[in-house]
Amino acid sequence: MIGSWFYAGSFLLFLVCFPPLIFAGAVAGADASAASSNTALFLSGIANLALLIFVWNRCSAPELSFWDGLRIISGRNMSGCANITLIYIYPLLFVVYLIALFHSLLSIFQGGDYSRSKWIGLVIPSSRSAAALHPAAAGMKKCPYCAEMIRSEAIVCRFCGRDLPPMESHH
Ligand SMILES: [Zn+2]
Repeated sequence: MIGSWFYAGSFLLFLVCFPPLIFAGAVAGADASAASSNTALFLSGIANLALLIFVWNRCSAPELSFWDGLRIISGRNMSGCANITLIYIYPLLFVVYLIALFHSLLSIFQGGDYSRSKWIGLVIPSSRSAAALHPAAAGMKKCPYCAEMIRSEAIVCRFCGRDLPPMESHH
């Protein structure tokens, strides 16, 4: 049985070592001669790696790193048969990567909490568990009386009905 680390790891390897995935079409297409297209392939490999490191940094939260997220997604979508899994796991991870890349780019303007909470939400599609992992980013806090997750702005808990202490100041 192939582990989820294998799919996640080989996907990252493809992503960096198979430059046509993102850049080569544009870069290599500019010049058809063999020598300079080798250089273009090399450069686009570097660019892919830089992009991956960027996404990795923007999405890794203390509670859930980019790598752990890829492994969780791979593990959840593995079928019993490795040959069948191999057909769809890379396109699936690539779509996940593109979504993470999109949120990472937005996080340049929105701040790192934005891309980290989006990554947690992508890996764990239930807002409840996302809030439990990263409450502040999801706009949630835990009720001190009944320990349910409620919105940060709440002044009355919707689960136990108690008045809540005023919100701590934002920083
Ligand atoms: Zn409560």
